[in-house]
Order: sequence, then structure tokens, then C-alpha cells
Amino acid sequence: MNLANIDGKTKLANGLQMPYLGLGVYKAESGKEINSAIKCALSAGYRLIDTAAFYANEEGVGKAIRESDIPREDIFVTSKIWIEDQGAQSTRKAFETSLKNLGMDYLDLYLIHWPVPGKYLESWKVMQELYEEGKLKAIGVSNCLIHQLEDIKKVGGVQPMVLQNEFHPKLIQQDVVNYCQENNIQYQAWSPLMRGEILDNALIKEIAEKYKKSIAQIVLRWDLHKGVATIPKSVHKNRIIENAAIFDFELTEDELKSIDSLEDNTRTGAHPDHFMEHFS
Ligand code: NDP
Repeated sequence: MNLANIDGKTKLANGLQMPYLGLGVYKAESGKEINSAIKCALSAGYRLIDTAAFYANEEGVGKAIRESDIPREDIFVTSKIWIEDQGAQSTRKAFETSLKNLGMDYLDLYLIHWPVPGKYLESWKVMQELYEEGKLKAIGVSNCLIHQLEDIKKVGGVQPMVLQNEFHPKLIQQDVVNYCQENNIQYQAWSPLMRGEILDNALIKEIAEKYKKSIAQIVLRWDLHKGVATIPKSVHKNRIIENAAIFDFELTEDELKSIDSLEDNTRTGAHPDHFMEHFS
């Protein structure tokens, strides 16, 4: 694992290199806000942008990337299929709409945003086809527990290369992380900063003071120590730069364990088995 600088990448099951650190853009407005956030991130060295059809900002992501001086192939772009687009008939169309909105001819990673019962396995089969056709460099899932991953395994064929789940010191789900390690699925943290709620934690503050770092930086470094890729969101230049300045220090085993001890199963988002009521 090369975590010496922001260029550190993890090798996915198919050999594709995915940056450990990326910029999340949920709730970043498609317009000036996302344009300046992405350009700032790219000049700070970020090479992964995480969007989704649901965020309604894919057009802004594509425009910012095109306007930057970084070639498209040097940037890892992730998008996701939304709940209502899942199923055998509509998955391909949803993917093509995302691609059109982004103004791109392939995606680096496409994820099932939430595993809709009765539909996500059908979507998965279509994503396998899109992968075989070369339109997707990698495919994966989001908001899954072990039982959903096991159901995908039963479908056979290409398996998820990435699982993007809510992950922060208060929600680790070590059993799912372990399962992913055993099955060569890269774990990726969404809401790694707990949407800001972890940023006043006293225990992490003490560690932050020792390293002269911010609480956000300690939490993001902890992700990397755990082998978890991470996609903090910010639209502020100073925070985007701050969130990437995590490669010049290492946490000790004891510090990692004390951060682990904060887990109390708190979610900021929905539970993977009960999200339908959350979004209806
Ligand atoms: P994060 O945990 O990344 O927190 C984002 C919040 O923290 C924003 O309010 C941001 O404010 C603030 N923030 C960021 N950096 C700092 C800092 N250094 N100091 C203080 N505040 C800071 O939450 P998200 O929910 O956005 O998760 C990250 C990404 O994960 C999303 O953007 C999205 O790409 C993905 N995601 C995926 C989901 C899924 O279902 N697959 C669900 C949710 C998110 P500001 O922008 O104003 O700076």
C-alpha cells in the first residue's frame, strides 16, 4: 500500500488502480460551486471524483473536468445508479444518461447506489454486460451488508470490485470490512467525517493536537490506516486542501485502537436493509 502521498492508489480485483483519496460531491451545487470545488481539488492533487445521478450535478462534474488541464484518463470518475432506475430494463438507460450528463464515453466506476430488493441483482447483470463492453472500467455496489454481497456472488460472473458504505469512527462494521478484505473488494468510506458530526470529538482532538493536525485529518488518516479508501466532501478551498494533507504523519497502533473504540453503530444515513422507507 503506497500511502506516502496523494498519488497513493489501491489495485482493484481487476488490476485497475483507484486513488485512496477522492472528492465527494453530494450536495455540491451544479454550477459555480462544484466547478470551483473540483478545480481546486484537481490542483491540490485529487484524482478521484465521486458523484451520482441522484446528486443532480453530473453535468457540473463533467464540465469542471473538461475545463481543467488534467486529461480525462488521469481522473477516476465514479457515478451511481439511483433506486428508481434499477431493474433489467432501465439500468442501461440510466447508465447512458449519466454518461451523457457527464459528457464522457466511459466511467471508471459505476455503483449500485442502494440495493433495491428484487431489482439490484438484475441491475448487477446489466452492469456486468456494460463492464464486458468496456464502458465501465470497474463495477461495484454501495450500501450493502454481507448478505447482499453473498447474493451477488450467487449470480456469478464479475464480482463487485468496490463497496462504498457509510464509514467513520462511530460506524465501522468491521465484519463487513473483513468480508471485503477476504473477497478482494475495496472498501470505500462515504460520510467519512460523519457529515461534520465527528469534528468535535474530544478523544480525536487530543490526537490531533499531538500531530498539529485537524480532527478531520486524523479521521481521514485513520481511514487509510484501516485500508479504507475515502471521499470527504467539501466545497471550500481551505478544507479541500486540508483534507488532502494527511500523508505526512502516521498514527500509532494505540491511537488507531482508541479511535476504533468510538464505534457505537451510529448512522447518519439509512440502514442498507431499511432504506426504502427512508427514500419514499
Ligand atoms: P462528509 O463526511 O464528507 O462530510 C461533509 C461535510 O463536512 C460538509 O458539510 C463539509 O462542509 C464538511 N467538511 C468537509 N471537510 C471539512 C473540514 N476539513 N473541516 C470542517 N468541515 C469539513 O459527508 P458526505 O455525506 O458528503 O460524504 C462524502 C461523500 O460520500 C459524498 O459527498 C458523496 O460523494 C458520498 N456519499 C455516498 C453515499 C452513498 O449512499 N453511496 C451517501 C452519502 C455520501 P463544506 O462542504 O461546507 O466544506
